[in-house]
Amino acid sequence: EALAESLVALHGFDHVRLCASGTVAVELALRGLKIGSGDEVILAAYDFRGNMQDVLCVGATPVLVDIRPENWNLDVELVDQAITDSTRAVLVSHLHGGQVDMSALRDMSDRRGVAIIEDACQLPGARVAGRVAGTWGDVAVLSFGGSKLLSAGRGGAMLTNDEGIVQRARLYSHR
Ligand SMILES: *Cc1c(COP(=O)(O)O)cnc(C)c1O
Repeated sequence: EALAESLVALHGFDHVRLCASGTVAVELALRGLKIGSGDEVILAAYDFRGNMQDVLCVGATPVLVDIRPENWNLDVELVDQAITDSTRAVLVSHLHGGQVDMSALRDMSDRRGVAIIEDACQLPGARVAGRVAGTWGDVAVLSFGGSKLLSAGRGGAMLTNDEGIVQRARLYSHR
């Protein structure tokens, strides 16, 4: 409960769901957004392997876009042309201390009606363009795994302001 309260306070989200890992948190985010068969999820062609597996796990199609050579993170300029009528979300990670241009990605996603799952597993508590990593997204994902900066050995969290997303994640977890 103390951890949940701290995470909500740090990020300013209304809801948090603690879970077994960052990988589970990404799955809960996808299920919370009702993403499944026939849907496309855009992510970087170089990303944490579990993220691609999570998209496949819910029955959706991963659509890979290239990374920027200078920091190995998602090239936001390439996301626009990868969006189709089936695109439901962009799953975006900040990797190896790099940062994705979240302001540009947020603008684009709002314009095209696509959700953002912001994976802050490698950047917990850091600021991205003035906002805490994760809070640019409709859903934020954290990991407390053994190799992470903020580690509890294992664990993860999903945060959102959306009542529907957290309710679906809760029901799915309980089952
Ligand atoms: C580690 C990591 C995950 C998954 O976290 P686990 O707790 O290991 O399942 C997801 N995304 C990124 C970017 C990670 O580094």
